[in-house]
Amino acid sequence: MKIEMEKLIAHLKSMGFVFQGSEIYGGLANSWDYGPLGAELKNNLKQAWWDFFIKKNPYNIGLDTSIIMNSKVWQASGHVGNFNDPLLDCKNCKSRWRADKLIEEKFLDLNVGGWSDTQLEDFIKEKQIKCPKCEKCDFTNIRKFELMFKTNQGVVEDASSIVYLRPETAQGIFVQYKNAQRTLRKQLPFGIGQIGKSFRNEITPGNFIFRTREFEQMELEFFFSPNDSKDWFEYWLNQVQEFLDNIVKISKENYILREHDKEELAHYSSRTVDIEFKFPFGIGELWGIANRGNFDLSQHQKVSGEDLTYLDPNTNEKYLAHVIEPSVGVERLLLAIFCQSYKEEKLDNGERIVMQLPVNLAPYKIAILPLQKQQIDKSLEVYEHINKNLNIACTFDEKGNIGKRYRRQDAIGTPYCITIDFDTQNDNCVTIRNRDTMEQERISIPDLNSYLKNKLS
Ligand code: ATP
Repeated sequence: MKIEMEKLIAHLKSMGFVFQGSEIYGGLANSWDYGPLGAELKNNLKQAWWDFFIKKNPYNIGLDTSIIMNSKVWQASGHVGNFNDPLLDCKNCKSRWRADKLIEEKFLDLNVGGWSDTQLEDFIKEKQIKCPKCEKCDFTNIRKFELMFKTNQGVVEDASSIVYLRPETAQGIFVQYKNAQRTLRKQLPFGIGQIGKSFRNEITPGNFIFRTREFEQMELEFFFSPNDSKDWFEYWLNQVQEFLDNIVKISKENYILREHDKEELAHYSSRTVDIEFKFPFGIGELWGIANRGNFDLSQHQKVSGEDLTYLDPNTNEKYLAHVIEPSVGVERLLLAIFCQSYKEEKLDNGERIVMQLPVNLAPYKIAILPLQKQQIDKSLEVYEHINKNLNIACTFDEKGNIGKRYRRQDAIGTPYCITIDFDTQNDNCVTIRNRDTMEQERISIPDLNSYLKNKLS
């Protein structure tokens, strides 16, 4: 089913997943806050990534580095001076656009990643691509627009106090690579991952949480010997797909793999594959997997003067490790999950919205619903048992008729509802309703533990 973004966004706002940022002040363009359920879901997603890529992977370890770093980091990485987008203005209505996106949004099969500014300008003129706002084709020449947010640290505002908000989390990993390797006595191959905020002053943010100026990334830098014969690129491409398929349950038919051609490859990359999701507004990058060679370590070694080489204990050789980087944005992945989970269903007695979230990501796994006031005490007992003793996130809802309460839980993606009714005090059983099938089962309270363990594992 093709979903409409407006409906999805309205649903997510009304259910407490995502709110407009600074809403009571009229908002701040393209900034979003995560409500109580969005925060739970986002935490579950980050935890799932951390479990899969860090805790359960035999090679990897984690880090948590600063957002603001020494400015030399960004000179070494090439971001100062090179991290920019091709900006042009519409002379008629004065709106600003990214030249590459103007083309790609019009010609969906084209990827202009490697094109020069002149190529972009010529193509826009030749094809008479219009300003999406005023429909005129009258643009300025392209200017480079710096994407890093700049500020000053400390009391003096001069060139020496300039610092940047990091535009990616990866550089924090490269800068601490040696410390992490040494203190954990890691041998190649091994990876370092981290989750954290990144900031880019995007020219054209939009499509809800797809492109924002403040976002979170989950990045892994995997270091290996250039002599290693194993194809680590294939390994990580497969791991990423396994995570998508089995952990966050993105259907294979909803994403594609796109190999960058030579023209599009970043100068430091020998191979890049993007995993692209079929969003309702078009196909967009979800996850990038790049072979960065030893570009980053050699740059940091050069600019910092620190020896970042690795002494191979097997061969006694000294060399700079090579790197494969799988990098994904938390909110983009979240948006893909929202788009795939949101369903509008017609029922015999009306209709419902159901968020078919994977169990591990759902904000609440279970809702406890006393049918009437008389069952509240017993229901609270069951709630405490599941929430506290079994440590399963559950919610309690006693207000309104039971049909409406089921609909609300469907709408926020709660996989199971447990109803305590008149018969519970006689037969010590509860009714469990499945979100997706809406089927109901009667289970005795002593059997609940094993039933839930089985269903939620
Ligand atoms: P795009 O071409 O969409 O701008 P990119 O190629 O610049 O993305 P990377 O630098 O490779 O992106 O960043 C890695 C990941 O971080 C992306 O695959 C995406 O999931 C996420 N990401 C990048 N920029 C943003 C943004 N402005 N808002 C939300 N997520 C982002």
